[in-house]
Amino acid sequence: MKKLIAGNWKMNGSAASNAALVQALLSGSSDWQCLVAVCVPAPYLAQVRGLVAGTGIDLGAQDVSQHESGAFTGEVSASMLQDCGARYAIVGHSERRQYHGETDAVVAAKAQRALASGITPIVCVGETLAEREAGRTEEVVKRQLAAVIHANGHCISEIVVAYEPVWAIGTGKTASPVQAQQVHAVLRAQLRAASAQADRVHILYGGSMNAANAVQLLSQADIDGGLVGGASLKAADFLSIIAAAQ
Ligand code: PEP
Repeated sequence: MKKLIAGNWKMNGSAASNAALVQALLSGSSDWQCLVAVCVPAPYLAQVRGLVAGTGIDLGAQDVSQHESGAFTGEVSASMLQDCGARYAIVGHSERRQYHGETDAVVAAKAQRALASGITPIVCVGETLAEREAGRTEEVVKRQLAAVIHANGHCISEIVVAYEPVWAIGTGKTASPVQAQQVHAVLRAQLRAASAQADRVHILYGGSMNAANAVQLLSQADIDGGLVGGASLKAADFLSIIAAAQ
């Protein structure tokens, strides 16, 4: 399977800097042997859609509403994202779980809405440092993924999973390739138990992935790509990670 490298720009960017970043990404050959996506702030979906049209870069959003439509001021629905050309939507990022109180059930509903509109949800799971230190990593990630499997059983092979240890996000601390692979193997086994198509599911690693650590992480058996935060904002760094995935 081709690896998938997805950038998560988080709440960064401007019309000018988005154009410069995408131009820099496309300045070399964009005939990549892996899948590449950028998940951009909602107001810039239309702009970036235009910038990446006809290139090797796919468009993604960073969240999606759990509701279909109606009186949910400020929310963005899956069909709106689809209208704007999004192929992916991140759901259950730890920053949303932490700062916006998203529960496993909410994350599962968001994944369901995305799938119903033909958008691939990138479902984030991951343990906090306290949970890892208490030996609860497996239990936590399995519980988070189980909620999504429960709500989306028949089309679970259509999702992307991202293992993002919370203690590694934006901290410069990366899970070692062995630590990451251990958790990815657990997630793969859980997906296999749920679907005969589980081996089609990309399981991405996220958490301070950078040009220096990407090759080793991406060479692990069950690491099928990366969800990249900080390093996706610098064209040279993101291109090095893409190169590591070829
Ligand atoms: C993320 O936000 O999904 C992420 C992995 O961030 P960073 O690469 O900056 O740790």
